[in-house]
Amino acid sequence: MKFSFRKLFLVCLACAVCGQIGFLLQKKLSQPVFTSYSLQETPPYVVALDAGHGGFDTGANYASLNEVEVCEETVDALFNLLEENDAFIPVRTRENGEGANISQRVEQAVEARASLLVSIHMNLDPSTTQSHGFECFPIPPGRKWNEKSMQFAELVAQGMGQAGHRLRGSNGIRFAYYSGKQKLIVDAEDTRERTLKSFGILEQSMCPTVLIEQCFLSNENDRKQWADTQGCQKAAEIYYSAICAYFDVSETPHPTPEPVKEGW
Ligand SMILES: [Zn+2]
Repeated sequence: MKFSFRKLFLVCLACAVCGQIGFLLQKKLSQPVFTSYSLQETPPYVVALDAGHGGFDTGANYASLNEVEVCEETVDALFNLLEENDAFIPVRTRENGEGANISQRVEQAVEARASLLVSIHMNLDPSTTQSHGFECFPIPPGRKWNEKSMQFAELVAQGMGQAGHRLRGSNGIRFAYYSGKQKLIVDAEDTRERTLKSFGILEQSMCPTVLIEQCFLSNENDRKQWADTQGCQKAAEIYYSAICAYFDVSETPHPTPEPVKEGW
């Protein structure tokens, strides 16, 4: 066979194209694959904060209020509280104003080796303005971080109840599953292990995780109490107390001691 540079070039080009396609396919198929890691046993604890929705996805909309803005405001307030306490390193799963899919959010938490992931959302009932109250969704029974997620969920729900927020269901803690397009929500007492998928962030997370539905944007009283700047701050303080209790850390940040002045 006669050697030809043209043939060699075409063969090389074909190999390069196939290689690139193979690489892209592998990348696509292998997402998301995160390696597991062990949770920290001593402070500082990394806490990943996930403001629901973001970018083009503004979440629930009601009375000119976008869910995403309320989520970000709450996460900002919680981030500031955690940052002031040396026992914590808060990280965000996405920057404010930017979008991110579930895998990207989880990736941020995994990269930071988060010991807890808190996902903040607001609820909406398009059928009635009467639905109101707080509910949160820990990783469901039968999954690796169910127990620890439950512990944190209980602390959050307790705090919300003590602050006068109505706890939905029996105690504000519920499990969510998808059966096809149908959403199945059960109270915390129903600890049956199901193979049905739950919320994406609870399915993919590699550490104890709770998805919080802070209040109903479609209910006027909920909105007034829990969705304005004061309400977000109040909720953030409750989440902060729950995080401190969960990790058994003092709520009062330890101030850096003043340097001792020597002599006169
Ligand atoms: Zn949401």
